[in-house]
Amino acid sequence: MNKAIPMGATRINQRLKHFPRRHLLLASTIAVSIMGLMALLPSGDVEARRNEIPMSIDAFQPQEATSELTSTVTTPGSSPFVSNQNSNQSETAIKKEVEQDAEAKALAKAAYDLEQKLGKWHNVTIKSGDNLSVLFNSQGLNASVVYQVANTPKYGETLASIRPGESLEFRINQEGTLTQLRYVKSRLESIFFNREDDGYQAELVTLSPEIHPTYASGTIESSLFLASQKAGLSQNLTMELAGIFGWDIDFVQDIRSGDSFNLLYEEKYLEGEKLGDGDILVASFTNHGQTYTAIRYTDSNGDTDYYTPDGKSMKKAFLRTPVDFTRISSRFNPNRLHPVFKTKRPHRGVDYAAPMNTPIKAAGDGRVQFSGWQNGFGNVVFIQHPNNVVTVYAHANKLAGLKKGQKVRQGQTIAYVGKTGWATGPHLHYEFRVNGVHRNPVTVKLPDAAPIAKSEMANFRKKSKLMIARLEKHRETLLATQ
Ligand SMILES: [Zn+2]
Repeated sequence: MNKAIPMGATRINQRLKHFPRRHLLLASTIAVSIMGLMALLPSGDVEARRNEIPMSIDAFQPQEATSELTSTVTTPGSSPFVSNQNSNQSETAIKKEVEQDAEAKALAKAAYDLEQKLGKWHNVTIKSGDNLSVLFNSQGLNASVVYQVANTPKYGETLASIRPGESLEFRINQEGTLTQLRYVKSRLESIFFNREDDGYQAELVTLSPEIHPTYASGTIESSLFLASQKAGLSQNLTMELAGIFGWDIDFVQDIRSGDSFNLLYEEKYLEGEKLGDGDILVASFTNHGQTYTAIRYTDSNGDTDYYTPDGKSMKKAFLRTPVDFTRISSRFNPNRLHPVFKTKRPHRGVDYAAPMNTPIKAAGDGRVQFSGWQNGFGNVVFIQHPNNVVTVYAHANKLAGLKKGQKVRQGQTIAYVGKTGWATGPHLHYEFRVNGVHRNPVTVKLPDAAPIAKSEMANFRKKSKLMIARLEKHRETLLATQ
């Protein structure tokens, strides 16, 4: 059977990348539907709410290489402020205050000592055209230091790929020796170099953002796009939400005023600053009075997907359309006149006109049966799927270089649109064969993707219950405060 494939940020990012080329008219594919909701003109009022849940989980604290930093402890009773007449309670409070004061002083002293020994930090933002020699030179460091640092075991070579916008933080002591260097690649990742007796040692320092589960909900008056904007959701998150429900709901044709959604998703923070959104954990969408609920679940193989509360996949086993097309140039038609030969020849697939080199995606998980040249089809890919389904992708300009027998996953690029073989213009000729019989790819009933495996069911049910309860609790809390 089909294996569930992760449907996460990567796919959404891919959608975003192709987003500007999409056309609104063709609403039959999910991808196009997603674009459509972005394009709908906002009008009217939208009611939407959002609240943040102050719930932070294990933030990784950055560590300075300051093992010298230790706090001194004050001796109790030695303070002149402590009087025997005080009650025990206030005595403790004063003691604590004195200790804290002493600790702060000790820390300040240690920081001062360290600065005397290692030097002050100096931060340089890398600009376009900068290189290590120039940057080091600007700090009064010569070529031999550059050489030494760049040859630091393990991480020295990372300095060869510095990029504009990143920064270098130098620490140089009074003798002009580079004692420490920090190569800051991002808010979450830096490489720390420390001078030791026999040259530099480096380590990778990564920080984990705090994850704040966040609740959002909205009711649609005109468009999902506007409602989700009011709810505080980013475009990315909106597209992800639409992607989850896009197999059941056509976001261009089916959205009605009064439709509503609510979801729990992750927000990532570092030191109180929002870095971005994480995953949608659980979401529900009510369309025409019917409510769909999706729970994010990662199975024991590490595969993540969204499922209904009873463990069915939110997806179909096949994409309806394996290419972002501009129009259908020829429909499935068993009695068609062939455009080149002008004789009666059945058209056993559907032709999707699309610009040259538009990526062609595998409609479902499967194995490559053939990838190469065939008379008439030109460059063509055949994919064998479970349950005797074969899909065919013809007239490609280029193939993605897949080998026979190779596994492909739904949405994977397998070729690029062209007009090789008997074709009058760039298009994808797509066939859907069940037990060797050609079916109309536009109307054939598509099977659901694989549900939760039996071995995962107990785990999934627990998680599913918990997540739905959390979602419901937030929704009720919000209703109660309205
Ligand atoms: Zn065709």
